[in-house]
Amino acid sequence: MTLQNNDVKSVTVVGAGVAGLAAACALAEAGFRVQLVERRGYLGGRASSYLHPGVNEVIDNCQHVLFGCCTNLMGFYRRVGVAEQIHWTSDMTMIEPGGRRSPLGPSWLPAPLHGLPKLLTAPAFNLADKLSLARAFSALMRPVDAASTESLGAWLRRHKQSEGALNRFWRLVIASALNAEIDQIALPYAAKVIRELFMNSAFAGSMGMSRVPLSQLYAGVTSFLGERGGSAHLNTHVEGAAWDEGAAQWTVYTRTGELTSDFVILALPFEAAQKLLPHLPAEQGREKLARQIERHEHWPICSVHLWFDRDITDLEHAVLLDREIHWMYNQSRLQTGRGGHYIELVVSATRAFAALPREAAIRQALDELAEFFPLAKEAKLEKVALIKEVRATFGVPPGIDSARPTAVSPWPNCFLAGDWVQTGWPSTMESAARSGHLAAEALGMEAEEPLKCFEPDLKPQGLMRLFPSPDAWY
Ligand SMILES: Cc1cc2nc3c(=O)[nH]c(=O)nc-3n(C[C@H](O)[C@H](O)[C@H](O)COP(=O)(O)OP(=O)(O)OC[C@H]3O[C@@H](n4cnc5c(N)ncnc54)[C@H](O)[C@@H]3O)c2cc1C
Repeated sequence: MTLQNNDVKSVTVVGAGVAGLAAACALAEAGFRVQLVERRGYLGGRASSYLHPGVNEVIDNCQHVLFGCCTNLMGFYRRVGVAEQIHWTSDMTMIEPGGRRSPLGPSWLPAPLHGLPKLLTAPAFNLADKLSLARAFSALMRPVDAASTESLGAWLRRHKQSEGALNRFWRLVIASALNAEIDQIALPYAAKVIRELFMNSAFAGSMGMSRVPLSQLYAGVTSFLGERGGSAHLNTHVEGAAWDEGAAQWTVYTRTGELTSDFVILALPFEAAQKLLPHLPAEQGREKLARQIERHEHWPICSVHLWFDRDITDLEHAVLLDREIHWMYNQSRLQTGRGGHYIELVVSATRAFAALPREAAIRQALDELAEFFPLAKEAKLEKVALIKEVRATFGVPPGIDSARPTAVSPWPNCFLAGDWVQTGWPSTMESAARSGHLAAEALGMEAEEPLKCFEPDLKPQGLMRLFPSPDAWY
């Protein structure tokens, strides 16, 4: 029998994606008793891995990339002891159909000039493209008004970007980092991504990829919570919750029973929060939240997982230009202990590709892959999996900030997390981890047990110190 300490405050965290995991672990570390509730049979939500029955391999639902500037995601990884599993690289190779390569990456020059030498010699861009990009980057050194309602597309037209710069940089690198078309991206979000990935410092823009399948990163969370008096409840679908004012307690109703606690964090994607709303108390503010959620829209990401009988490239990863497939990840090289010749292709923000029938999508991906890596034509394809995530991310069109609620919910002792709540970041694991930490800190304040888990932004380096971002959380 375990003795229960009644002074310890309890929290139910609904949803075990990165947002819920980050909140749960921070609160457990601060001494709260945490019950983490997840409808699926595994942790990680949209950033997870599972055994794919078609290929009999454990694969990520899609390659997930983080960057040096993802301070809260790294804070969460450090808390659960997996930060060392992230493989970092500062190099990126752009490849044109036909195979010509343009290596990009930092030099010894101070930020924001560190990427300039390689950009200037990159054959993927002609002189007009390079001048266009230089003009746009220098304009973005000055902070963009966070309240701007201009779209990235309109701003790029105003700054007279060349076709090459539009197609090979803005539509590919930036639109896929934000997973939307350029006219559907609010300028302040694009400016943030440009500053963080390309201007603030070489480290902020370095790319991180997990050495192990994503769910393995969180494998220790269940024992992390258990050792601190908490628990994780998988395969537990939350259907509603009620607040008892007298007892100052929440009861969370699941398909398999009830859970009570002093506090609740709803760490759900917006569509799941929308489904739950009618089953939460009819508090003032619930309708406003419902109207905010209605304004959100999903964008798809597809990934094609290919196993060949031999290597088709020596690269770990690459950006693929001018075709529907955008990114290549050589998983046999990136992931520790992964044998075989496993290549993953990622197609971002392309509704047309997501709508293709399975066979047509795979055919197109293979044909395009061979244009970049001719060895793919000779290699035998042993097995293939196509994963279409039609609800991969939420969009960040102009004006979206007023539809992103803060961590404080309309209900007492209840807080909101999830990548879509107000974090200033687009739909990413970092936004999810930030939201989890913000919710945990707001809860700590309400419980009169303040905790500090939010990780500040990295400070800009070099010349960028002269142009601090107005919305930075240093
Ligand atoms: C294909 C794809 C590629 C991506 N690539 C990247 C990338 O490269 N880099 C990056 O940073 N981000 C990427 N993202 C985005 C990133 O995965 C998400 O922003 C982030 O994981 C969201 O985390 P979250 O915790 O907010 O939500 P989720 O991960 O959606 O977690 C919410 C959890 O709540 C659970 N849930 C829902 N309803 C209930 C209920 N009623 N009861 C109990 N549990 C419930 C869900 O099962 C889920 O586990 C990608 C996403 C996808 C899908």
